[in-house]
Amino acid sequence: MSDKLENPYGDQFLHDALEYVAKKTSKAKCPFCGNPNWTYENGGGLLMPVPKMAYIPMRYQPQTGQAASIPVFTLTCTECGFVRHHNLPMIMTKLDGNDG
Ligand SMILES: [Zn+2]
Repeated sequence: MSDKLENPYGDQFLHDALEYVAKKTSKAKCPFCGNPNWTYENGGGLLMPVPKMAYIPMRYQPQTGQAASIPVFTLTCTECGFVRHHNLPMIMTKLDGNDG
């Protein structure tokens, strides 16, 4: 597995995407237990948190190898473990030309 497949986005974008979602969903509570606190796997440091990426496969393609997939980062409820995904290409369209 290449590094490019692991992370086609730069750390700065992933950091900005995390901040964007945190700002947009700061009041979001877990739909299952009502907990307002979420966590993520940090691939960066404390100064610049960088959420680790995951891919949601859209279909299984054994003939061609790699399945079409959506790059996301995940947030996990700190109480019940419910996992939510945020679509990185979608966030990229929101961050383009938007400084905050
Ligand atoms: Zn929960």
